[in-house]
Amino acid sequence: MELNITLLPGDGIGPEIIDQTEKILLTVAGKFGHTLFLERGLIGGAAIDAFEDPLPLETIERCRQSKAVCLGSVGGPKWDDLPSEKRPEKGLLKLRESLGLYANLRPAIIYEALKEASFLKPEIIGRGIDIMVIRELTGGIYFGRPRGIEYRQGEQVALNTMIYSESEIRRIAQTAFGIAQKRKKRVCSVDKANVLEVSRLWRTIVEQTAKDFPDCKLEHMYVDNAAMQLVKDPGQFDVLLTSNLFGDILSDEAATITGSIGLLPSASLCRSGPGVFEPVHGSAPDIAGQDKANPLGAILSLALMFRYAFSLETEARLIEEGVQEVLGRGYRTVDLTGNPEHLVSCSGMGDLIAAELNT
Ligand code: NAD
Repeated sequence: MELNITLLPGDGIGPEIIDQTEKILLTVAGKFGHTLFLERGLIGGAAIDAFEDPLPLETIERCRQSKAVCLGSVGGPKWDDLPSEKRPEKGLLKLRESLGLYANLRPAIIYEALKEASFLKPEIIGRGIDIMVIRELTGGIYFGRPRGIEYRQGEQVALNTMIYSESEIRRIAQTAFGIAQKRKKRVCSVDKANVLEVSRLWRTIVEQTAKDFPDCKLEHMYVDNAAMQLVKDPGQFDVLLTSNLFGDILSDEAATITGSIGLLPSASLCRSGPGVFEPVHGSAPDIAGQDKANPLGAILSLALMFRYAFSLETEARLIEEGVQEVLGRGYRTVDLTGNPEHLVSCSGMGDLIAAELNT
């Protein structure tokens, strides 16, 4: 298969982890006989330095011409004093907007080898945790209008609007059920239908959509209960379907229970066009340039890319199993606690995974 991919390393540890991602990409492509068309582009602080723009048009065009984008991370103290419109993080928001990325996928998995890194008690983790949080990314209260701060009767008032259309809800629900079909076929839709009209429509449309996926089981849960259940009994969840606001909070909560930010991948998808695959963490300026970063979040994002951008499940599984195998042998980057004798660098971890995939 032809794999047309853009790499956007970005800032801080971004270039280091994207180098490891590229290493794994070349290994997998070689093993399975795929032809790679790889391009690199600038985003974030690196793009500001070169073009005074956190997302130059050239980068958007390059991404649009590819089938998938692998992103490192953006931002750092060097650009912190710039006005918000010109900051590196704006490049990320503009990229999501330009590509119409409406679905954000955040798996939260507790690997056997890293059980001790989780904050949860072993008896709670016992059943194993493998949750996929699917968050609507382009609608809801973060984008709804009217919004603003104004004066009313001599004092300031602030307002935001939570708004979803049927089509926006249907689109994200279809994505969630489609993904559940490839997993344990269970969708838990999170809302606040006891209070919010938006949530009532959300529930109605999700129920309608479920009829097109009769092999999947649908359950509804209020967001406050979902937040509680995630720490009490996370093993009950397969796919968690959420709106933008609830997903923002729950995906971070789900991530936190795994205990290791450097390990967490994500994918952002659109209807047609390239998806963006990136680790959840930021640019970690405190360890940038020291070959210390954990590249596994980026490498696991690559697995998501094979699965969701190219429907290459065998390749995706190979990467995920390779990561588990290397962790199982005790190797750790500095952010994960473990035996100091098995401490490896960012590039060392990349080499170990690549070697594992070649066996
Ligand atoms: P961060 O995720 O960069 O770092 C938080 C802590 O986790 C740091 O101690 C860091 O060393 C550690 N860490 C993060 N990723 C790691 C990895 N792969 N391996 C080992 N340790 C890792 O968050 P922050 O410090 O709040 O933000 C730093 C910069 O990153 C800011 O400029 C912020 O705006 C930006 N940021 C970017 C993204 C993104 O690009 N998607 C996301 C969050 C933050």
